[in-house]
Amino acid sequence: MTETPLIDIKNLSLPELAQLLTGLGKEKFRARQIMQWIYARAVTDFTAMTDLSKAFRTELQRRFVISDWNPEAVETSIDGTRKYLFRLADGESIETVRIPMDEGRATLCISTQVGCAMQCDFCLTGTFGLTRNLLPAEIVNQVCAARKDGPINNIVLMGMGEPLHNLDNVIKALNIIYLPIGLDYGPRRVTLSTSGLVPEMAELGRRIEVNLAISLNATTDELRNRLMPINRRYPLDQLMRACRDFPLKPSRRITFEYILIRDLNDTPADAKRLVKLLHGIRAKVNLIPFNEHPESPYRTPDESTIRTFQSYLLDRDIVAIRRAGKGLDISAACGQLKGRLELRQPLAAKPLNQLD
Ligand code: SAH
Ligand code: SF4
Repeated sequence: MTETPLIDIKNLSLPELAQLLTGLGKEKFRARQIMQWIYARAVTDFTAMTDLSKAFRTELQRRFVISDWNPEAVETSIDGTRKYLFRLADGESIETVRIPMDEGRATLCISTQVGCAMQCDFCLTGTFGLTRNLLPAEIVNQVCAARKDGPINNIVLMGMGEPLHNLDNVIKALNIIYLPIGLDYGPRRVTLSTSGLVPEMAELGRRIEVNLAISLNATTDELRNRLMPINRRYPLDQLMRACRDFPLKPSRRITFEYILIRDLNDTPADAKRLVKLLHGIRAKVNLIPFNEHPESPYRTPDESTIRTFQSYLLDRDIVAIRRAGKGLDISAACGQLKGRLELRQPLAAKPLNQLD
C-alpha cells in the first residue's frame, strides 16, 4: 500500500485548513487553534497542541507535517545586516536578508522564487534565469526562521525573484503572514516590489492589500528596454497607468526604486523626466546607488551626482530617500542575492517571447 504524502500545513491558508478539517468531521474553529499554535507560538509539533484531544493530535500527525526551517549558513555584515542561506527540500537554495533599521527595528527581505526569469541587465539574480517558484510554505518559513533570530518589524518582497511572476503562492503566503491570530503583520508593514508586470499589478490590487514598490530605474523606454527586458512587453506608459490605477489607501504611496548608474540614468535630464513621469501619482522615490559587482560593467555615480539628482527631486516636492547599500560586504545588498546559483552557468540572454 502506498501512503499518501503528508501535507505541509504551512502551505495552507486558514480557509483551506478549515475546509480540510471539516472534511474530516472536525469543527471549523480548530483551524484557528492550530494556526495560532504554529504562527503565534512557533510550535512545530502537533503533540504540543494541548487544547486538542490526544486522538485529534494523532490524526493530525498522520496527515500533516509542520515544516520548520533553520538556516544552513548565516553571514553578518559589519553594519549588522544578516544574510541567511536556506536549503530547500529539493536541494535548491535561497537567501533572506535581515536589515537593521533605526531604533532597534529590523526589516526582512524575503525571496519569492529560486532565480528570476526577468533578466534585468544590472541584477545578479536575473543573470541565472528562473529555476522555480517558491511554495507558500517556503515564503512563510523565511519569516518564521528569521524571527527565531530576533523580532522583525517590516517585510519586503525584494529578495530573489519576481513576486508577481508567482502571484498565487505569494498571495497565499501574504494571507498567512497577515493572520491576526498568527504572525500578525498588517498589510502596511509589508511591501511587494515588482519589475512591472502590468496585468498582475491589477490582479494584485484586486485580490489583496499590500504596499507596492516599482523597480523603475529608467525614464525612457529606450533605456528601460535595455536594462529591464520586461519593459518591451509593458512599456512605461502602460506601467505608469497601472500605477495610477492601483488601489491606494489614504496617506499611502507607491515606492519607486531607482538605481543610479553612472553616466546611464543619473543626469539632470533623467531627474527631470522622472518628475514628469510621477506627475499625479502619490509616490516616493528610493534612490539606490548601483551596487557594483564583478559580473557587471556598471558603476556607481560619484557622490555629487547622487546629491544633485536627489536635490532636484526634493526641490520639486518629491519624497526622495537615499537607500544605503547595506550588507555590501557579504553580498546581501539589493540585486546580489543568488543562493548557490553561482554554481550554475549564467543564461545567454533569451528573447523576451520565451520568458515564461
Ligand atoms: N524582482 C522584483 C523584486 C526585487 S528585485 C523587482 O525587481 O522589483 C531586487 C531589487 O534590487 C530591485 O529593486 C532591483 O532594482 C535592485 N537591484 C538589483 N541589482 C542591483 C544592483 N546591482 N544595485 C542596486 N540595486 C539592485
Ligand atoms: Fe528579477 Fe528583480 Fe533582479 Fe529584475 S531586478 S532580474 S525582476 S530580481
